Amino acid sequence: MIAPVPEFTTIQTHFAGQEIAPLAARFGTPLYLYDVGRIAQRIEDLAAFDVVRYAQKACSNLAILDRVRRAGAVVDAVSFGEIRRALAAGFSPRGDDDRPAGIVYTADIFDRESLDLVVEHGIHVNCGSPDMIDQLGERRPGAEVTLRINPGFGHGHSQKTNTGGEQSKHGIWHEQVDDCLLRADRHGVTVTGVHMHIGSGTDLEHLSQVCQAMERTVATIGRTVTTISSGGGLPVPYKSDESFIDLQRYFELWDAARNRISDSLGHRVTLEIEPGRYLVAEAGCLVAEVRAVKRMGGNLFYLLDAGFNDLARPAMYGSHHPIALSPRDGSDHDRPEVDAIVGGPLCESGDIFTQQEGGFVCSRPLPIAQVGDYLLLGNAGAYGFAMSSNYNSKTRAAEVMIEDGQVKLIRSRETFDDLVRGELIPE
Ligand SMILES: *Cc1c(COP(=O)(O)O)cnc(C)c1O
Repeated sequence: MIAPVPEFTTIQTHFAGQEIAPLAARFGTPLYLYDVGRIAQRIEDLAAFDVVRYAQKACSNLAILDRVRRAGAVVDAVSFGEIRRALAAGFSPRGDDDRPAGIVYTADIFDRESLDLVVEHGIHVNCGSPDMIDQLGERRPGAEVTLRINPGFGHGHSQKTNTGGEQSKHGIWHEQVDDCLLRADRHGVTVTGVHMHIGSGTDLEHLSQVCQAMERTVATIGRTVTTISSGGGLPVPYKSDESFIDLQRYFELWDAARNRISDSLGHRVTLEIEPGRYLVAEAGCLVAEVRAVKRMGGNLFYLLDAGFNDLARPAMYGSHHPIALSPRDGSDHDRPEVDAIVGGPLCESGDIFTQQEGGFVCSRPLPIAQVGDYLLLGNAGAYGFAMSSNYNSKTRAAEVMIEDGQVKLIRSRETFDDLVRGELIPE
């Protein structure tokens, strides 16, 4: 069912069939590259689910959203800006008889402008707080909503990605469903969906617990429920000793829960999945140029022109990304390996790509590199560019997609004017 992971070797001259060095020369570095075919494959992997709803926060470039739409997925939006992006990429907000809503707003609050936009376009809302039911109900009496339920436990690849349990701010506490139904009744709002997303990096042991919690919640709400969503969190392997989750098994557990729910309600219930990372992680890589190679006592450092402003995951979660060398001259001859620490240009000691959770700097065996060579940080398509920032007044990278052997610029590198847009120096 699952297409194989692209091999990441320590020397890599190509990505998605394209030579890297000429791309780096043409578009400059740091540079994000996306392999569109791989995103389509990952959507295809999930075809057993009725609806694949892409959590666009993982990578929300308009061109990527457009290709996700063309591949048959719909989209999740967590903010005003993400709703606007989805509209701009051609998703239609409302579903019709046999099509799911093209856009669902999933959040724990409405800021005022999101609420206006949701009301204006009739966008379906997945409520993560009881207050949202009142706020929407006042503006759009008779609305249909989904409730995002925190089942009382969670799971995540790091504490920061655990989205269930008492410590989590996400969702409606599982014991407050009755209160939510009262609020909904007051405004003539109907609860048509139940959603659970307990964290990123879900494993199968937790899954049957989540399915049971889903069944209990639907039983409390009753026959108005027509859709359940298993949320996101499908893991992808970042290290060579990690593997994909057994998707077949994952689907079967949810499908069985859905069937029990359908039987008890007496009508067919739609099963959605809401992946972010799974669709785009391996499709993207960050290309950076080595700008310094220096020794500090016993340690060798490769310093790049990309930092945690470009790819925040290692500094934020201690995440591991595969790293390959792409020689400047395009040659693929073997080079001897050395242990190197890979860092960026920012004035922060935490600006290190080879670190573990807790900020422990570590080295990685990598081919000997020279200034001017490129390093490729793999599995960077999810939460890569999307989390990038202008910290240290760095302009954000260009983004390029590779599709059917063609190279297409999908976001220009930022300029100084972009950086200071909106800033004013008063008289
Ligand atoms: C972040 C998020 C997702 C996607 O999580 P992944 O781990 O990228 O699959 C899905 N649903 C919700 C509500 C999210 O907040």
